[in-house]
Amino acid sequence: MTLPGSPFLSSRSDGLWLEGARLADLARRFGTPLYVYSRNAMRTAAASYQRALAGRPHLLCYAMKANSNLAVLQTFAEAGCGFDIVSAGELQRVLAAGGRADRVVFSGVGKTADEMRLALQAGVRCFNVESEAELALLSAVAHGLGRRAPVSLRVNPDVDAGTHPYISTGLKGNKFGIAHVQALAVYRLARQLPGIDVVGIDCHIGSQITTAGPYLDALDRLLDLVDVLAAEGIDLQHIDLGGGLGITYTDESPPSAEDLVRQMLARIDARGHGHREVLLEPGRSMVGNAGVLLASVLYLKPGDEKSFCIVDAAMNDLMRPAMYQAWMNIVACEPRTIDPATYDVVGPICESGDWLGRDRALAVQSGDVLAVLSAGAYGMTMASNYNTRARAAEVMVEGDTVHLIREREPLARLWAGERLIG
Ligand SMILES: *Cc1c(COP(=O)(O)O)cnc(C)c1O
Repeated sequence: MTLPGSPFLSSRSDGLWLEGARLADLARRFGTPLYVYSRNAMRTAAASYQRALAGRPHLLCYAMKANSNLAVLQTFAEAGCGFDIVSAGELQRVLAAGGRADRVVFSGVGKTADEMRLALQAGVRCFNVESEAELALLSAVAHGLGRRAPVSLRVNPDVDAGTHPYISTGLKGNKFGIAHVQALAVYRLARQLPGIDVVGIDCHIGSQITTAGPYLDALDRLLDLVDVLAAEGIDLQHIDLGGGLGITYTDESPPSAEDLVRQMLARIDARGHGHREVLLEPGRSMVGNAGVLLASVLYLKPGDEKSFCIVDAAMNDLMRPAMYQAWMNIVACEPRTIDPATYDVVGPICESGDWLGRDRALAVQSGDVLAVLSAGAYGMTMASNYNTRARAAEVMVEGDTVHLIREREPLARLWAGERLIG
């Protein structure tokens, strides 16, 4: 039996497997909390986008803030992907993983002059600029280096992606992008600036989007602008439609990447823009269903109102439930013959918000291993050291080969940069 959303995860008579590795065995071998990813699930996700994009100029830029482990970046670089980055640190990671700077687009509302300089020197493909002030600074920095920065303006199309308010980014009230009504004026300005080379347009309307409608609406709004710009002699080379495609955590049924992209390309062609290069910036849909977080049950704590299953993973390891009230499936990694009971699955952190799942039916006992499913995106990258907890180790499975791709953080490293006074 396969589990929702994760074709490489299977439930067998002896428990849960990811590709050719039994998860309970990995937990015992590497300890918990442990992130485990399927390399072939990542390749499959990239291939779904690439099938639809084949035969036309395109660049698939993996939005690496979803999961930035070097081995994950390496996997996507080898699959021909570029990267969407939001900081100088992410650029350094791309280079450390063997990725190419000329396949990097640099997004984010708060790029610093230092980050711009670094990205210009590395030779990134494009800066996705989010404000007039940023544009002016970027022009000055590039001019100072004797260069021109390739620029796309991130336009806020003012469409409702129908998703959680914290991960909706394409509405007027969001901090992201340049308002649609101002975009033309900012493009005219960009054309005048000495350090700027206008090359594209982009948008990114939110995350965990489960229908194609908002994408097609945003695309239409962008193409309206592309038409107006072309009439003024500003002929854009590329259209970047951002990321945001949702995955299955419970019963969501988002379109496949292939299906979504085909619909977008059909609209682009119908409106006469088929010659322009298409860029995409998917994050979650490239890695989310490829990963699980393993945790061990420490204690069962029955109560009158609630019973708690206390595990050794916490909100510092996986923030999504505490931060977005996200529902993530939690399953036992080994079959047990005991009756299931209903638990809140909680971590050891001193916060009532420290839970991974509420009201879950689980047949478990102390020492058992649980898997939080669909944890490959915005899991490890959002982990912190709160409560002076070391961050988890990460493992990549490929067939029956198991690679340790990040060692468990040694505790002493947590205070290595700190100083006593005097
Ligand atoms: C986060 C982000 C993405 C990726 O979003 P997903 O929902 O993970 O696909 C793409 N582009 C930009 C600008 C982002 O900030």
